[in-house]
Amino acid sequence: MNISLPKKFRFQEDGFEAYIDSNNNLVMTRTGFEKIMYALTYAMKGDKVCHYCGNPFGDFDRSLDHQYPRDFGGISIPNNLVPCCRDCNERKSNMNAQEFYEYELIKSDPIKVEQFMEDLYRKRDEFRKTFGVILPFEWYSLKSDYNVLAPITSQDAYKSNKQYTRISDLYETYHRICRPVVVTKNDVVVDGFLALMFAKNNGQKDEIPFIRLDNVIAI
Ligand SMILES: [Zn+2]
Repeated sequence: MNISLPKKFRFQEDGFEAYIDSNNNLVMTRTGFEKIMYALTYAMKGDKVCHYCGNPFGDFDRSLDHQYPRDFGGISIPNNLVPCCRDCNERKSNMNAQEFYEYELIKSDPIKVEQFMEDLYRKRDEFRKTFGVILPFEWYSLKSDYNVLAPITSQDAYKSNKQYTRISDLYETYHRICRPVVVTKNDVVVDGFLALMFAKNNGQKDEIPFIRLDNVIAI
């Protein structure tokens, strides 16, 4: 997939760098993916008005919402991020944007809310059992031949990472790796290292959702 890009963008902070080259690729350092994507999103979508309620917000209330939530594999790319006030972000919680719009219409009716939530949980479970992530199909592919991309590490400290534990817990329930591995056009893993490590430790016998950013180059 291609990420949305503006015509011009230049970022330099804390040793991370990114810019848009003459072929409209985003060229970026191998680390700092999320930070760069956040800056990119604010540069494209503004940082003063909430995408959902339309109200202006100050620096204190500013946040970025993952339209497809992180816990279902939503990654930090401009295609998935919108500026959002904290209030809307908290109300939206783990719903995707479409679900949130539907919820906002029925939220004052407890019976409808109960039915809505029941349907939502069932739908999520089915998706996770089948695909691992809940994302647009054109964004990712399920791969099991990912051996070459696994980073090598000699220490196991990452195993106590909260995200790693979450991946492991989801695997127990759904028998799927429920986080995507994100690679650039030149096959550098920029996000989803823990999903990759989990697969590696699990014998690499499963399919993992892979997202390939075809207009991003890591240097
Ligand atoms: Zn809002």
